Amino acid sequence: MPRFTKITASIGPSSESETILRQMILGGVNMFRINFSHDTGDVQGKKIESVRKISKKLGMPVGIMVDLQGPKHRIGDFATDEKYSISVGQTFVFDSNPEPGNSFRVNLPDKDVMASLRIGDRVLLNDGKIEMQVTDVAPDKIKTRVVRGTEIWSRRGFNLPDTEIKTSVLTEKDRADLEYALSKNPDWVAVSFVQRPEDIAEVRDFITARTSSPIKIIAKIERKNAVEKISEIAMAADGVMIARGDLAVELPFEQVPAISRQIIRECRRLNRPVIMATQMLGSMVESEFPTRAEISDVANAAYLRVDSTMTSEETTIGAHPLKVIETMDKILSCSDMDAMAHPNDWVRSENAPDNDWSRSVSSMAYLNHAMAIVVFARDTDAVMQISARRPDVSIIAVCDNNLVANQLCLLRGVIPIYTPDSFALRDIKMIAKITEIKSGKLVIVDGDEVSLRDLD
Ligand code: PGA
Ligand code: MN
Repeated sequence: MPRFTKITASIGPSSESETILRQMILGGVNMFRINFSHDTGDVQGKKIESVRKISKKLGMPVGIMVDLQGPKHRIGDFATDEKYSISVGQTFVFDSNPEPGNSFRVNLPDKDVMASLRIGDRVLLNDGKIEMQVTDVAPDKIKTRVVRGTEIWSRRGFNLPDTEIKTSVLTEKDRADLEYALSKNPDWVAVSFVQRPEDIAEVRDFITARTSSPIKIIAKIERKNAVEKISEIAMAADGVMIARGDLAVELPFEQVPAISRQIIRECRRLNRPVIMATQMLGSMVESEFPTRAEISDVANAAYLRVDSTMTSEETTIGAHPLKVIETMDKILSCSDMDAMAHPNDWVRSENAPDNDWSRSVSSMAYLNHAMAIVVFARDTDAVMQISARRPDVSIIAVCDNNLVANQLCLLRGVIPIYTPDSFALRDIKMIAKITEIKSGKLVIVDGDEVSLRDLD
């Protein structure tokens, strides 16, 4: 049985050589993430070109997702690179004074952030290791009280879980990066720090003004206000990433698993693919073996029937990028098989409108013990709907469009096959050949027509 849960791998210094990329694809990577938070321009362009070249040579569709940094906020510089002591209960000020910071104040370069903060809002710095609460706001000066933390230093990133920031989701840097990325024809664009559905519309407008290619958008859910509007955001976007790194700072970390399940349910209901991200095999940045807890985390993603898991540092700066993919592939394959053998009731029954045809297709496959569902896919729509029902059989998507085949790489259980002439494959013998299924039943979806075919 092929693996249903897909693997998205971030590319970085540990994995950007063509030899490693090739081995990663052969090892089971379905989509690569090109993260514009690091590197930009041609350094990233080269990664995209390498993946395209290898994918073509191997004849295997591989997805490419470019990930924009988004409005990640940072405090200004301190006089030296040293750490400055702070203590709980003291006052700390963020202001517009460009002078280097000290233990009592620092510059806050972003005017939109300054204007958005309100009394009582929390400022979480350095992955939440420092917490401050706003006690007073003036046009150029935000006073806070230190609630947690002992030291602060230059350029720390911060999260504002209680604040709606009135700023564009695309920074100047993002616009330049996206403009460049679009010239390289990515399949998916991931948008960081989304706060509202309008943010997705803004990115969509930016893309459609520059290309007629139907590039798809992933909304990264990493802010508290994005969780509150998850349905509208998922609807506006084409897919969702559960960005647990920032999410666990913005929300009490113990809530992240429950919120992940909620997001997965919404995505299934709305036919949107969902990626589980961050620290899945974090210890493998150094270690050759996963921890027991990581094995369970990856397995759990398969049991929750996400579309894809994702690696970050494990494959960007880690010592064993190939081992990471091998490990993830093994755990997912094993857990997918177990999940299929013991389906949870909620997996089959919930979250699909009663009259949804994709549900009938899925039931047809299930009730007839079909070997696979074969879809002649002109675009991604039908396959997205069927995949979202989690039919627990392979969905073979025969595509005559490269972009569609690449985009479908992300979807749970979908095996995209690219052929310039999909009509040639409409013959049952050809289907048997491409699916490598010799006997049994297939559910065939061709436009509005759904049929059951027997290979025997
Ligand atoms: P990042 O997003 O790796 O771009 O920060 C994922 C996350 O926040 O978990
Ligand atoms: Mn993030």
